[in-house]
Amino acid sequence: MTFRVHVLGSGSRGNSILLETSETRIIVDAGFSGRQLERRLAAVEVAPDSIAALFITHEHRDHTQGMGVVARRWKIPVYVARATAASCSALLGGDEDLRFYRAGQAVDLGELRVEPFLTCHDAIDPVAVTVKQRSSGLKVGIATDLGTPTVSVRHALKRCDLLILEANHDELMLRTGPYPWSLKSRIAGRHGHLSNRAAALLGTELHHPELAGVVLAHLSQECNKPELAAEVVGEALERKGYAAPLRVATQDEPLAGLNVTAMAAAVRSPQLTLWESGIRGFGDSGN
Ligand SMILES: [Zn+2]
Ligand SMILES: [Zn+2]
Repeated sequence: MTFRVHVLGSGSRGNSILLETSETRIIVDAGFSGRQLERRLAAVEVAPDSIAALFITHEHRDHTQGMGVVARRWKIPVYVARATAASCSALLGGDEDLRFYRAGQAVDLGELRVEPFLTCHDAIDPVAVTVKQRSSGLKVGIATDLGTPTVSVRHALKRCDLLILEANHDELMLRTGPYPWSLKSRIAGRHGHLSNRAAALLGTELHHPELAGVVLAHLSQECNKPELAAEVVGEALERKGYAAPLRVATQDEPLAGLNVTAMAAAVRSPQLTLWESGIRGFGDSGN
């Protein structure tokens, strides 16, 4: 009953994450074209018709671009907040199977439980989510597009086994970068995106002894560098005693095969699993 996560792509130009157990596959956000999503699913060897549902966090294009296309083409239900769906009407043809959720109410999709919670972000009804494997209790937090990590956001993200955490920009690169002033202040504002430094702070607060993996996500291509984000967040986590893997998701290629089951086992019983070198490298050790 392995629980796996594949970040199909993440960044300011598109976000989509596949979560799977042997029974259930779902996608959180569809911020790429339908064709691009199918190409990325093929890269992780997943057939589109095996996806059970699409879950949308908020209406920004980098999370919704392919939403209508894949809902119609793959004939899958789309879980979306009502106001978010209304603001995506240009992407929808009217015959999609939309199912409205509310922040704070869990949605059970086969073996997976999605729990959406409100975020502070400049969208109409934005949420971030945790996804739990119901049989094992393993929990993945997907925490991007966070202007301010409020008390309720921090509470919802407690005790994740795998944390996918926004590290959008380096504060200096944003200040001196090419964006107009209005966009800079939007990104850095209370309803924008987390900087590397803010991600480091949030990461250390969410750290606990069984945190088994951290993936940095939603990096800006203009105002951040993967090695810089990893250094800032990695050093802060290390100071808290974190020794599990830290990876950075990219815009152009999937970060595939994050085996949450094996990673959690490696942290909980390191003496039993250290020899499985693939696990330490985040590789997939099979079932
Ligand atoms: Zn976004
Ligand atoms: Zn957004």
